[in-house]
Amino acid sequence: MILRKRLLLLLLFFICSLTIIVILKKTKNTVPENIREEVKIALSYFPELNGIPIEFKFKNSIKKSVMLAQPTWSGLLKSRSKRSYVILISKKFKISGEEFKTVNVPKDVLIGWIGHELGHVMDYQQRGNLNLMGFGIRYVMLKEFVKKAERSADSFAVCRGMSDYILKTKRFILNHANIDNTYKDRIKQYYLSPDEIMEMVKEQDSLRENDLL
Ligand SMILES: [Zn+2]
Repeated sequence: MILRKRLLLLLLFFICSLTIIVILKKTKNTVPENIREEVKIALSYFPELNGIPIEFKFKNSIKKSVMLAQPTWSGLLKSRSKRSYVILISKKFKISGEEFKTVNVPKDVLIGWIGHELGHVMDYQQRGNLNLMGFGIRYVMLKEFVKKAERSADSFAVCRGMSDYILKTKRFILNHANIDNTYKDRIKQYYLSPDEIMEMVKEQDSLRENDLL
């Protein structure tokens, strides 16, 4: 009888351990229900990110931006293929002092915004762990570096075929009369301009026509 009990306990312990391992090894993307569709569309442009765990998380506010892509701390200790990321999304979006919900912006604009963040993840995936840690420091310290990083994220998304979405996001911000000028200036200063994006698309098209891409 005692032996049976012990065996049962052992089995229970075994099942519990297995469950914990499975939970810890969970490599699925976590996406809030209300932006699932937009994330799915944006992710479809980045097949390279298949299998890389990305958690999309709403935050009350993010300093200076609406979304932010970051590697997770635990991921930085692992090899590049086992890294995981978190994309923070500010719940609210400030327009002329008035607050709006980020999920209420037009669907394509939101997809473009997410696409830009996935562009950052693509950029991070090409960097080693030490380089990535340095990235964070340089991003905070050097304006020139912010420009490089933001333009690179935009370029990744445009090269993956997301130019229409990225343009819609950009135009939404730049043409929206009520959006804070500080944010508009930031977009103009650090990101690719609509003209540059169109130029990039033209270049891509001509390369494709010549079968070089
Ligand atoms: Zn960015």
